[in-house]
Amino acid sequence: MSACLLCGTPLTAPISLTTLLSFRPLKVPATCQRCWRRFSVIDLVNRCPKCGRQQGDTDVCGDCLRWPASSPFVNQTLFTYNDALQDFMLQYKFRGDYRLRHVFQEAFKTAIRRATPDLVVPIPIHPTTLASRGFNQVAGFLEDVQVAELLTTATS
Ligand SMILES: [Zn+2]
Ligand SMILES: [Zn+2]
Repeated sequence: MSACLLCGTPLTAPISLTTLLSFRPLKVPATCQRCWRRFSVIDLVNRCPKCGRQQGDTDVCGDCLRWPASSPFVNQTLFTYNDALQDFMLQYKFRGDYRLRHVFQEAFKTAIRRATPDLVVPIPIHPTTLASRGFNQVAGFLEDVQVAELLTTATS
């Protein structure tokens, strides 16, 4: 039996007839429902189409209108940066708890499937940071996703 990666509560996979008949391994979530509900999932309809900011409509937000559209990239934000996400990032990124990469892997996979991007590129981190942290936090979320690596050059 596995446990919630955030609070340690024992977890079980939800079993339905469809799940049983699929003959696939049971998928146990990475967190309990109580911990997951602390994260604020961004409504994919009412958001800025350029930067993904949560808002009351689907218009391009004021910030995106002010800044010139010089980039061909579109950002899609999946979660609001609330207290729960701040706690998560502290534990994952700054305290180096690499197990926590599983918390958002399904959310990333679902978003990537929905967006059907040409290319998925995790933003590289500086080699010094990589050496001290031991992992790229974004690549950890994309563990099961086919990604393209950006070529980086170390700067001194
Ligand atoms: Zn929990
Ligand atoms: Zn925007």
